[in-house]
Amino acid sequence: MKLLEERIRRDGVVKEGNILKVDSFLNHQMDIDLFNAMGEEFHRLFADRPVNKILTIEASGIGIAVITAQHFHVPVVFAKKAQSVNLDGEMYTTKIESFTHKRTYDVIVSKKFLSKDDHVLVIDDFLANGCAVNGLIDLIRFAGASVEGVGIAVEKGFQTGGKLIREKGIRVESLAIIDSMDAGTGEIVFREQG
Ligand code: 5GP
Repeated sequence: MKLLEERIRRDGVVKEGNILKVDSFLNHQMDIDLFNAMGEEFHRLFADRPVNKILTIEASGIGIAVITAQHFHVPVVFAKKAQSVNLDGEMYTTKIESFTHKRTYDVIVSKKFLSKDDHVLVIDDFLANGCAVNGLIDLIRFAGASVEGVGIAVEKGFQTGGKLIREKGIRVESLAIIDSMDAGTGEIVFREQG
């Protein structure tokens, strides 16, 4: 998506450790017109799928998921990061290793909000090693629901997440895929997408 690529080029900052900072429009301050264009594009890309629910993870996925859901007219569920899991059988739980914070979280979704009748689109801001998205897919599978696809704003194509998830036969649509980035020069190379 050209609009997102241009914005990343203009306002994104490449940090050491393969981190792209996009605080000024995506992760801290949020550009809602851009989010709306991204939501519209996810809706176009997944128009052939019977999506009835969007699943994301707190915190940074929520904004994009909510605006995307306005195009699908479906509810959003966000997986919560929990300090300790109360195993009372009311929750689906899994563990996710955070790429940016280098720690492992228990993540939970209430059984009330995910069931075998659901057709779920996963939305998140970044795809790096795939831990977050894989965890969300686990939760969907525990519920017996269907994964209709994964929509990502920024995929770092030089990390393994996208490949691993596509190899499972899951459709992943990323609005911008970065093939390489250099913290020294600030250069960002995007993958050409059809
Ligand atoms: P993964 O689980 O795929 O390794 O990492 C995805 C999660 O880590 C995303 O939900 C995102 O919050 C965070 N993340 C990974 N890489 C980056 C990055 O380069 N920049 C930012 N801002 N967040 C990232």
